[in-house]
Amino acid sequence: MFEMLGFCILLAAVLTLNTITSSLAALIWHKLARRTTNWPPALRARLLFTLRVAPATISLLLALMMVLPAYLLNEPRNKVEPVSYQLGILSVTSAIALCLAAWRGLNARSATKRLVRNWLQSATPIEIPDLTIPAFRFPHQLPILAIIGSWRPKLFVSERLLQTLSPAELAATIAHEKGHLIAKDNLKRVAVRMCCDVLSILPSGRSLDRAWIEATEAAADEYAAHQTQNMAVELASALIKIARLIPAGERITLPVGAALIGQDEPGVAFRVQALLAFDRRLNTTCDAQNALFSFLYWCPVFGVALLALLLLSYPAILSNVHEITEFVISQLK
Ligand SMILES: [Zn+2]
Repeated sequence: MFEMLGFCILLAAVLTLNTITSSLAALIWHKLARRTTNWPPALRARLLFTLRVAPATISLLLALMMVLPAYLLNEPRNKVEPVSYQLGILSVTSAIALCLAAWRGLNARSATKRLVRNWLQSATPIEIPDLTIPAFRFPHQLPILAIIGSWRPKLFVSERLLQTLSPAELAATIAHEKGHLIAKDNLKRVAVRMCCDVLSILPSGRSLDRAWIEATEAAADEYAAHQTQNMAVELASALIKIARLIPAGERITLPVGAALIGQDEPGVAFRVQALLAFDRRLNTTCDAQNALFSFLYWCPVFGVALLALLLLSYPAILSNVHEITEFVISQLK
């Protein structure tokens, strides 16, 4: 019974903490959305990714590093209370959400493997200068250029796309894909997919997801535009050519992949407009933005280290956490 109650408390804590942190993330994005429209897309994408995955990560960490140890250290083992009906419902809901998150991750992985196996059957390896991952050309009726996979990504380019684009346009589109590769966007997509949390059902959470996808595309476009003087124009021209070849209503759906034009992505017109207005001399990040960029990169590590340090310095925190848990459980009866 001691273990059962502890397990239910852990699950209920994850759900409760996730509801609080998700609401906070949604509120922060609501306040920041307009203020960050002029930020460099890579910085905006980093902020959005942090906001998207932070609620799930923080709630899991707090539950595992604080609520569970507090229960194990402070709950008397001889007089364990039964699991109340309300606590049971909370923990079952939380368990379903966690299983769904794991299933989404595994499902994306197997769908990606199937797609890669399928495309590789008729693919031919190709050499692309400065590309660190394997690249293949393959027959397909749609103009596809995509990096598939998160751990061992591969670049696929369809024959249709190769026939359509000029060498300069092709170089620009590959530079866009390299932008996704450097930002590890495929790995981040898996992480976001696995965050099957309260944020996934809030409308503000879905708008955060959309904004993140848009920012990753804009950041990859900007990465390409930074490479050479004409690359922004070449990429804009490639986007127009490719968009014209995709039949109306047709979508290129990839389980875990970064395509040039894919699902959930911002309009081509908007991206073309941004690329044509792009000026390499004006688009450099300032020191404050670079500092924020580094902070957002390291803040999960800082967070865990700070929490561990806090718990080691003040062990009494755990008995306070247990008191709060006991109070919440008594309210659920
Ligand atoms: Zn892209």
